[in-house]
Amino acid sequence: MSNATQLLHSIPVDPLTGAISVPIYQTSTFIQEAPGVNKGYDYARSNNPTRETLEGIVAKLEKGTHASAFSSGLAAIDAVLKLLKTGDEIIAVDDIYGGAFRLFTQVYEKFGIKITYVDTTNAENVFNAVTPNTKLIWLETPTNPTLKISDIEAIAKIAKASNCLLCVDSTFASPALQQPLTLGADIVVHSATKYLGGHSDLIAGIVITNNADLGAKIKFLQNACGAILSPFDSWLLIRGIETLHLRVKQHCLNAQEVAVYLSTHPLVDKIFYPGLPSHHNHHIAKKQAKGFGGIVSFTLKEDTEAAAIAFVTGTKYFLLAESLGGIKSLISHPANMTHKSIPAAIRRANGVNDSLIRLSVGLEEVEDLIADLDQAFVKINELKSATQQELTSQSA
Ligand SMILES: *Cc1c(COP(=O)(O)O)cnc(C)c1O
Repeated sequence: MSNATQLLHSIPVDPLTGAISVPIYQTSTFIQEAPGVNKGYDYARSNNPTRETLEGIVAKLEKGTHASAFSSGLAAIDAVLKLLKTGDEIIAVDDIYGGAFRLFTQVYEKFGIKITYVDTTNAENVFNAVTPNTKLIWLETPTNPTLKISDIEAIAKIAKASNCLLCVDSTFASPALQQPLTLGADIVVHSATKYLGGHSDLIAGIVITNNADLGAKIKFLQNACGAILSPFDSWLLIRGIETLHLRVKQHCLNAQEVAVYLSTHPLVDKIFYPGLPSHHNHHIAKKQAKGFGGIVSFTLKEDTEAAAIAFVTGTKYFLLAESLGGIKSLISHPANMTHKSIPAAIRRANGVNDSLIRLSVGLEEVEDLIADLDQAFVKINELKSATQQELTSQSA
């Protein structure tokens, strides 16, 4: 497992000046001595020293050998899909990130790539879905927003036996908690916008592998398609990664307390957090990750959009916004926000109920966060009694 000392000392000191902070090479091109004779860099889409340093740091963090940084998490996912060709098939986790679902179904299906969504929390379902055309298995673990956990090691064995690649979107875990390559995955992707960046101040994505051939193919696609991460954002991402372990440790502690609090609340119906022993695959989460992460989701006993909206607009410290993984706590209503692009019937079938609320538990004092949730529950109770009064006065 990666640790903070390894991480901090994998960030190089500038050999030219001794600068302890990685320099930002804000340049588009590099002077050549003669055509094709240069210092290893010719054009900044192809390579940039700041981005290259970031890629080296993240490759080490994930116990990989090759990393490529993109301008968003979706651009990173897009690069992996471009390894495929018409006629190929993907088996994907059913509770998939909404943006990945949109990319798969609205962009790639029209190029003749078939996607089968299965409940990957049981590895046998993946095994049963494999066909001779399956070229890629796509996991997210934990998933967004119902925190499903899939057994990376078991599914990696199925991928190997079926001659296809396993890619894990490990955004929710971050490399501080889980390293899919060590469990047999071929490729890891991150929306670095989330925990890697950690401060809600940039959009970035990264693809990591420990296979030289795959690494070269992704590098080729990064240059050929062009969705690179800028030098400044590469620097900002390194700046965020420096405190990854410290932040994630506290996110986990705070989220665990929030989950325990929610699990005893009378207005809460279901609670989704891999750190609770009641979670379906708690034992797998425990086996493959160092911690359970900072995201907690729950549904309300009153499973309506109105109740959820009253709740998410009633918190003070949990700010209503898309995204997750930043230092400030965020709250969201997936049915109306991140998962709006998924048809309602499919969304509900995957457990994203109308009242589902997702918390990205931040780094505030956990007592303040719990008090904030507590007062929001009081608000939905008030809303309930107001509607009841209205109904009584109408019938009178
Ligand atoms: C946010 C997110 C993405 C997309 O990343 P962007 O940086 O927003 O493009 C992909 N996968 C997961 C699990 C995410 O949470």
